[in-house]
Amino acid sequence: MEIKQHTVNICHSCHTAELSSAPAERYEFDIHTHTIASGHGSSATITDMAKAAAAKNLKMLGISDHGPATLGGGRVSYFRNLAYAQKERLGVRMLYGAEVNIIDREGHLDLDDSVLEYLDYVIASMHQPVIKPGTEDENTEAYINAMKNPYVTVIGHCDDTKFPVDYFRLFKAAMEHHVLLEINNSSLSPEGYRGDTKFNDLLILNLCCHFSYPVLFSSDSHGTKHVGDFTYAADAAKLAGVPRSLILNHSAKAFLSFLDGR
Ligand SMILES: [Zn+2]
Ligand SMILES: [Zn+2]
Repeated sequence: MEIKQHTVNICHSCHTAELSSAPAERYEFDIHTHTIASGHGSSATITDMAKAAAAKNLKMLGISDHGPATLGGGRVSYFRNLAYAQKERLGVRMLYGAEVNIIDREGHLDLDDSVLEYLDYVIASMHQPVIKPGTEDENTEAYINAMKNPYVTVIGHCDDTKFPVDYFRLFKAAMEHHVLLEINNSSLSPEGYRGDTKFNDLLILNLCCHFSYPVLFSSDSHGTKHVGDFTYAADAAKLAGVPRSLILNHSAKAFLSFLDGR
């Protein structure tokens, strides 16, 4: 399959100059966030989340609650109703998506296409105990098969050390299917529970640099506390020398164009 071309062109020899002349980081959006509908730990409503995004000066916020296979996750009726939710709250542009579960090696998801087609975007992730970690080959296949679903926009926290993957194969498939791999701030946080993911995140970030393919930072905030917080993701990207122009979170417009281009 032909790999799509992207508008971002980077001169690799310029990375250092670009980074050193960059203004203080300002991010415009976060699309991996969870409300009370995800069923664990948070009592935040969508409006609470919008308030937190406005307080962080975000222009856009995406709500991505867990799919129904997660214990206490969103019901199908919740995701269907998102089509009628307000497109703007407290001056923040709202996107409504889901963090669906990859439920088997064939890449099947826990929400049907008839639900996914009305969402703004879809993050597909592997979570225990919904799916048991397989071998590197099996996990890579499961992610790649999920990417073949045309509604899948992002692969969530594929830095998880419990689900080893072949990052080169995964990245090539992401480019072919026009899917983003996220750098999940909560994985990299000292409170993270996916093992020491830094090496895996650096592999992904180096591939982004090498192929000049954009990357997405995600807070994975459960509740309002970490909305728009990309502290650790940004540190990893800096270490890998990722140019600012490849980090989609600097521009809500760039992310919306990415979605439109799919
Ligand atoms: Zn997740
Ligand atoms: Zn999540």
